Amino acid sequence: MSEIKIKFPDGSVKLFPKGVTGIEIAKSISSRLAKDAVAVRINGDLRDLNAPIEEDAPFEVVTFDSPDGKHVFWHSAAHVMAQAVTQLFPEARLAIGPPIEEGFYYDFEVESPFSPEDLENIEKRMRKIIDEKAEFQRVDMDRSQVIEKYKTEGEKYKLELLQDDILDDRVSVYRHSDFEDLCRGPHLPNTGLIKAFKLISSSGAYWRGDENNIMLQRIYGVAYPKKSMLDDYLFRMEEAKRRDHRVLGKQLELFHISNEVGAGLVLWMPKGAIIRNEIENFWRDEHIKNGYQIVFTPHIAQLQLWQKSGHTEMYAEDMYQPIEIDNAKFQIKPMNCPFHIMMYKSRRWSYRDLPLRWAELGTVYRYEMPGVLHGLMRVRGFTQDDAHHVVSPEEMEDELVWLIKFCLHILDSFHFREYDIFLSTRPEKSIGNPEDWRKAEDGLRRAMDILKLKYTVDEGAGAFYGPKIDIQIKDALGRNWQCSTIQFDFNLPERFDLTYADKDGKLKRPFMIHRALLGSIERFFGVLIEHYAGRFPLWLAPIQVRVLPITDEFNEYGQSVVNILKNKGFRAELDARSEKIGHKIRESELQKIPYMFIIGAKERESDSIAIRLHGKGDIGSHKLRDAIEVMKEEITQKSPDTGFEQPGGK
Ligand SMILES: [Zn+2]
Ligand SMILES: [Zn+2]
Repeated sequence: MSEIKIKFPDGSVKLFPKGVTGIEIAKSISSRLAKDAVAVRINGDLRDLNAPIEEDAPFEVVTFDSPDGKHVFWHSAAHVMAQAVTQLFPEARLAIGPPIEEGFYYDFEVESPFSPEDLENIEKRMRKIIDEKAEFQRVDMDRSQVIEKYKTEGEKYKLELLQDDILDDRVSVYRHSDFEDLCRGPHLPNTGLIKAFKLISSSGAYWRGDENNIMLQRIYGVAYPKKSMLDDYLFRMEEAKRRDHRVLGKQLELFHISNEVGAGLVLWMPKGAIIRNEIENFWRDEHIKNGYQIVFTPHIAQLQLWQKSGHTEMYAEDMYQPIEIDNAKFQIKPMNCPFHIMMYKSRRWSYRDLPLRWAELGTVYRYEMPGVLHGLMRVRGFTQDDAHHVVSPEEMEDELVWLIKFCLHILDSFHFREYDIFLSTRPEKSIGNPEDWRKAEDGLRRAMDILKLKYTVDEGAGAFYGPKIDIQIKDALGRNWQCSTIQFDFNLPERFDLTYADKDGKLKRPFMIHRALLGSIERFFGVLIEHYAGRFPLWLAPIQVRVLPITDEFNEYGQSVVNILKNKGFRAELDARSEKIGHKIRESELQKIPYMFIIGAKERESDSIAIRLHGKGDIGSHKLRDAIEVMKEEITQKSPDTGFEQPGGK
């Protein structure tokens, strides 16, 4: 019997008999791995666990933990769902059923939309199919054979796919029990591995996403190898609903978006504005401490400036129509860059002046399609925490290392500790010479290596004017948000002929880096609201302390406590209404005010307060001056947690 060489991800090589299957190799490594395996990667291709391997090849076991593993898993669940639907609705015609970011869907042509009861029945039927532990089998067939089969069965969507999209001579079909679907695979070994699933919703969806086509019915579902993972998913979905920044924004009176003002234009209510102010103050202080200079620029500029910068050519779709003033055309700004460039050009610079770091909280306006506008997350007018670095080629790498560190420091202050970092390299259509691109890309790579940051390379996804790093932050629910971006630019220094005098006295072309750390203040605020579920850390909370006298008799002492707090710089207020204390507490809880100071006779006599923490309850009496010290420290640390000993201990 001949043998083949199987090469593992760690570089080791082992011999196996020719025709060995992925699952057999997985078992030879560990029974645990064999149990977790959903597919294998052979020579770069995803394959079924029971596919025989005939040649030497690099080999890797794919588990649910990886994106590919999830896709195989979810797509298998989609087959099971389609089978259940065809059993319950024999008239249903199958369209497509791909895995998506979280879970899967399948589109069906059915007489009427699925009802919630239908979904329940489909789930019941799926459970039966899963209990059968039916094996998935791959069958390779001639395309013409499959076409005939679907003609007979009247599966017109599959037929259309075979006639228009899938043009290979041989195509594969996956079978399990009495169900068969046109499919590239791979699939799970059997349906029994789907330990937990749920059908989430159903809705109409046009065939091929084209509104001129027939409306199909789509069912969305999720599936997992463990019940706990499904529970976790459902919890996260509930949490996401509870944390929705649009709901909290209204409840906590943080911001307002009015159709009379215009879609995608944000009104910052006083409480939201307090938070924004704190963020901006912190941002400004950190920038000034770290060698930035703050600048301000106007909201409009002559159209010629945007023609020179190339924006009218490359960025037209995102820009509003120009306005006319004194026979000249002016453009409302979609970006701040040309202004900073004109400031640079206002005088001469030497190598000693570089690197230059100019930062601006610059409000820009960009056109977004009405359909994509979403609360604070996608808007038409927003303030970027923008900056431009002008740097000599020699200092570029040091500057990048410094800049990435600074970026992570700012994000860290908002308790974002996990990131996904992407390096986007030269796209097909680009300007600037390849040598500069290579240098800039290497610079970005090396900067991240020096900082020991993990990143993913997005080949060819850079902007036309230079490579970039995007940092996506993970919020409390593990969701990714694009905030920070660091972008190289070969275009503007060239177009505007930027120079600096080098050591040898010659004029040279500097590099330019655009960067935003929080991204847009509006969007970042939306992310923060959801990240903190509206319970802001003390340093950001619009009202930090509410003083609640138990009866009117203590309003005077209450007012004196508020005055002391205000004098010490806290945002404090008195609830002097003649309401029951329970009612006052409930309202403060709804407003997510971090500290409630409850006062009665005992407190008044001893210059103290009874502290109640939002969401946590009573932590007993404290001297006012001690409480002030603890809260001051909490603000300095930007801590998301109280500095007091919590009920039950922590
Ligand atoms: Zn499939
Ligand atoms: Zn810029």
